[in-house]
Amino acid sequence: MLGNFRKLFERAVVGDSVPSLIKWGKTLPRSAVRRLQQDAFRETVRYAAKHQTFFKTKLKEHGLDASIIRNPEDLGELFTTPDDLIGRPAEDFLCRSPQLVFETTGTSGPPKRVYFTYDEIEQSARHEAAGLWENGVRPGDRVVCAFDAGYWVSSWVTFFACQHLGVFCSAAGKPHPRELYARMGAYQYNVIIADPTWLVSLTEIAGKEGIFPVKLIVAAGDRMTDPYRKYVQGVWNAPVILGYGSTEAGGGLGMECRMGRGYHVDEFNFLLEIVEPDRDGYGELVITTLTRRTEPLIRYRARDITRLLDSRCPCGIGLRRLDAIRGRRDEMVVMGAGNMHPAIFERVLQDIPGIGDLWQVAVRQEGLRDVLEFRLELTNGIDPGRVEENVARNIQSRYPEVWANQACGMYRLAFQFLPEGTLARGRKPKRLVDERTT
Ligand SMILES: [Zn+2]
Repeated sequence: MLGNFRKLFERAVVGDSVPSLIKWGKTLPRSAVRRLQQDAFRETVRYAAKHQTFFKTKLKEHGLDASIIRNPEDLGELFTTPDDLIGRPAEDFLCRSPQLVFETTGTSGPPKRVYFTYDEIEQSARHEAAGLWENGVRPGDRVVCAFDAGYWVSSWVTFFACQHLGVFCSAAGKPHPRELYARMGAYQYNVIIADPTWLVSLTEIAGKEGIFPVKLIVAAGDRMTDPYRKYVQGVWNAPVILGYGSTEAGGGLGMECRMGRGYHVDEFNFLLEIVEPDRDGYGELVITTLTRRTEPLIRYRARDITRLLDSRCPCGIGLRRLDAIRGRRDEMVVMGAGNMHPAIFERVLQDIPGIGDLWQVAVRQEGLRDVLEFRLELTNGIDPGRVEENVARNIQSRYPEVWANQACGMYRLAFQFLPEGTLARGRKPKRLVDERTT
């Protein structure tokens, strides 16, 4: 029986066309996917135990024997962390000779690097192609991808994805939005793929100078808030679909479908876990690569806080979905109100009139009690009392469990109102800070 599963798996992962890859995702029973993953997990663990210095050392440190590992939990506290990737030489992770490298951009400190072979990047491209196909991209469409090109190679993954679909594609690097806008008509792009902040800039130009017919916009690379998404959708009159990916994933890990209810995960190539989940299932995302052999990552702590959605999506795809990313683990603050993430306050403060775009929420201590302090800039001379009422009302309606903890006296709400422009001084303020001393 396992042999048959294996064949199915191989076909789904390497052999079939993009539409049939989606068919696998829609028809393969959950139990079969789980079994395929378990099988691939065991194989990856045995492979890495033999070929990866880092994993070999870790197994020894934890007193574990690879031959008896069946599930991620069997590895106990053995994880791979971003610090491991940054702090150790690449050779410690490489299991065979690589053909390309993916490097993180835009973060402070040394970059993270992950190595691949062409066929591994090809897997990532196939998954992206499946996501684009599911969202309606077809031969005849014209795609422009404005992901930054360089050591961050996601623009090339998109280029290969378009090659799979047989659609016209410009992997244009990250030109000035105006440069791209000037070419929209000439190249008749009707699908735009870019990072959210760049998209907003392009959309501002289009809002003033006119739009071109666009059928789909895909945003990935950093977080896109609901107001930005609505704004971009409104101007272009086209759906904005979000993708989630990383250097470690070699591009995309998942993409939304038109339902917009979480990212459809590439479960053929990745096994996901959520560690230290809270009551609602939110915890840190942990990724194991199932098919990569150049630099497999076993139980890699992605630092992003999210949860897995197990129910079948209304679009029919039965693979698990990742819910929206709530924030980074290093931004999370555990306090009387619960596990707090900046995204919670983003949603609480959304559409409250009379406050500025920049804000900060601080967790302070007052005797034995936590205080959740909103630091807001007031605009248009609004009455601070009204703002306080609106914040409380939004917490109550959008996060009843957070509100309930306040009613139980586990923390108190406080407000600090600042003159406009205060928070913009100096560096951009952290959205959530823990100022408790102990
Ligand atoms: Zn779906």
